[in-house]
Amino acid sequence: MKKRIAVIGGGVAGNAVLHHIVNNTNFDTSYRIDIFDSEDHMGRGKPYIEDSEVLLLNIPSDEMSMTNVPYSFDEWLVSRGLPVEHFNSRKHFGDYSADMFRRAAVAHSNVRLINDLVIDVIYNEEKETFAVISDYKTDEYDAVFLTTGQLSYNDPYHLKGMDNYIHNPYPLNQNITDPEGSVGVIGTGLSAIDCVRYLMIEQSADAVHLFSRSGDMPSVRGTSHDLNIKYFTGAEVDSYIEDDMISLDKIIELFKKEMAEQGVDEKLFYRHPESTLEDLKFDLLHADAVGKLQYLIIAVNPLFSRVFPYFSKSDKRKFMKEVHPLIDKNHSPMPPEVARQLVDWAEEGRVRIIDGIEAVETNGRFEVKTDRDETFKVDYLINATGPIKDIEQEPAPLIVNLVDRMLIAPSELGGLLVDKQHRVISPRYGTLNHMYAIGHLTFSSDYMSNTVNILVKNTKLMVERIMEQ
Ligand SMILES: Cc1cc2nc3c(=O)[nH]c(=O)nc-3n(C[C@H](O)[C@H](O)[C@H](O)COP(=O)(O)OP(=O)(O)OC[C@H]3O[C@@H](n4cnc5c(N)ncnc54)[C@H](O)[C@@H]3O)c2cc1C
Repeated sequence: MKKRIAVIGGGVAGNAVLHHIVNNTNFDTSYRIDIFDSEDHMGRGKPYIEDSEVLLLNIPSDEMSMTNVPYSFDEWLVSRGLPVEHFNSRKHFGDYSADMFRRAAVAHSNVRLINDLVIDVIYNEEKETFAVISDYKTDEYDAVFLTTGQLSYNDPYHLKGMDNYIHNPYPLNQNITDPEGSVGVIGTGLSAIDCVRYLMIEQSADAVHLFSRSGDMPSVRGTSHDLNIKYFTGAEVDSYIEDDMISLDKIIELFKKEMAEQGVDEKLFYRHPESTLEDLKFDLLHADAVGKLQYLIIAVNPLFSRVFPYFSKSDKRKFMKEVHPLIDKNHSPMPPEVARQLVDWAEEGRVRIIDGIEAVETNGRFEVKTDRDETFKVDYLINATGPIKDIEQEPAPLIVNLVDRMLIAPSELGGLLVDKQHRVISPRYGTLNHMYAIGHLTFSSDYMSNTVNILVKNTKLMVERIMEQ
């Protein structure tokens, strides 16, 4: 392993990189590790910053740990005298994660935390080194880990900069304070649900309009099932590799065989009763059947991540178009208590879910237009549509510069292109042997691998392989 290492981004992936390097048997004082991030994100990452405690994890606390050394998340909560809820607040997870991070850093004098954002990286092809540039300093490194997470927020209706338009809502407790008049949220994903809950619980909003194109919300987490997977196993999918490729049709066939074995009804994938509200109620009423489907997907998810890089380009496209939406809906379900709140508020008429959004115009207020020729007027509009996917659209200086000097390239399905070992594939220099990327930035190369547990496991495998070199 090259010894001068820069980790750019101290969120979940950067934290896991640090942890697995310093705990590797080959790690010693000849290494120098510098980790760059802003002070408020260092050790936490964007989803787990200091924010309102009403923002919950969507994965049960006992399934979320950065590491078991010295504590799992649950043990840490107990050690702090904090309640171990089934779904704890994301802020608490951030406090835990930052604590684990600081412990790993202070235990080693050759690890430095640099509270600054990196603005550029210049590759020296001859020396195979990287100059990492921040406002604070420029230094030379032998290896770089790019762990900068999600790209900037999307602006689908080109409203950024307008009064009373919140382009990126996080942290909610700083960006959304006492909104005046009627309030709308665009989006129906987990971030939109964060905004609605925060407005209703902490801002005592009378009513919120929840606008989106599709009206599709994540499913509701059902009963936990510990499934014994019979067919969809690592050995079986590996046996499908032929000429470094795996056929999507074969994988679908295998998955269906496993569904039948587990008694999971395929029709559940298509459970879309008349409305978003009915959809939530359906999941709450059928928690056992829905839970079995979700826990099957969660159990085999690492294998989807494993086979995805082996699909041909056309199979990847087909997968993203036809299979991904079915998996996505069931992959990161919302906690049932959150769904119950939404149903109650919707039935009281306090949360209005409106789909078919086509355009937003401004005329003193925000006029939200649907494909049914309806117009809804709100005074305050919060964008919760999530991040940009294409790195070529990203405005942050680091990515702009890396794209411009052709050090990184976009993956066709979004994010950054890496090989199976997480080495960055540069359009200018080819595969960069000592520049790695992992985490949300490689979300399409690493299919569905960004929940904390999977990301931490994948980072461990990557670091172990690198440290052996
Ligand atoms: C709202 C939300 C809720 C989620 N809830 C859950 C959950 O309950 N359970 C779960 O398992 N997963 C959850 N996830 C998913 C998961 O935890 C994230 O995908 C994970 O944080 C990805 O890790 P990352 O390191 O790629 O990104 P992050 O954790 O965001 O870390 C990236 C870091 O890079 C830093 N950075 C960016 N640019 C630079 C630069 N130029 N220089 C230096 N640093 C830089 C950022 O400040 C940030 O701290 C959630 C995700 C979101 C968005």
